[in-house]
Amino acid sequence: MAEAGTLHDAFIDELRDAYDAEKQLLKALPKLAKAASSPNLRQAFLTHRDETQGQISKLEEVFASLDEKVRGKHCDGIAGIIEEGKSVMEEDFDEAAMDACLIASGQRAEHYEMAAYGTLVAWAKAMGHDDAADLLQQILDQEEAADEKLSALAEGGINQEAASTAHPQSEDGEQYEDTPARPVRTPLKKAAGAGRGASAGVARKSGGRR
Ligand code: ZN
Ligand code: FE
Ligand code: FE
Repeated sequence: MAEAGTLHDAFIDELRDAYDAEKQLLKALPKLAKAASSPNLRQAFLTHRDETQGQISKLEEVFASLDEKVRGKHCDGIAGIIEEGKSVMEEDFDEAAMDACLIASGQRAEHYEMAAYGTLVAWAKAMGHDDAADLLQQILDQEEAADEKLSALAEGGINQEAASTAHPQSEDGEQYEDTPARPVRTPLKKAAGAGRGASAGVARKSGGRR
């Protein structure tokens, strides 16, 4: 009978999963960039694509620090998130609404990664794999910064732009540029994808990076 696996075995498994997830994201990020209309959003996706390349190298260092062969293992979780992102890109949304949806997709990926690296850092520390913990923490910091960047873009204009098309007037009666003054009306239909999802419920870390 095979011996029971240990947390170390689970750790190596999760590392392989993360390595594969980064490789999938390396291919997906340029597609998100291409679908974006906002130049800042496009740049954010491309910058994170370059960071992702660096993360793949960092993970290779982690494997080396543990005397493990570099190996990936298909990550179903990120594959599902990427699949959903693809579905969104096939929708016929207006430009700002599409940007809001791309941010929502990107943030799903970042949060998945944050959960994975949060666990990996904690496990590495618990087992005294200090070099691995340090490298994994560097990756986690980048994922958190990428997530915050997306929130800043959503809340710094993209959501409002998308919302102004969905509702010519904001619900608190504030006027948008180029919109004539009109009494506030109850919105008749909900905006598909704009607003809520992109950044509303995103947990933020204190001690901001930017
Ligand atoms: Zn170990
Ligand atoms: Fe990553
Ligand atoms: Fe990421």
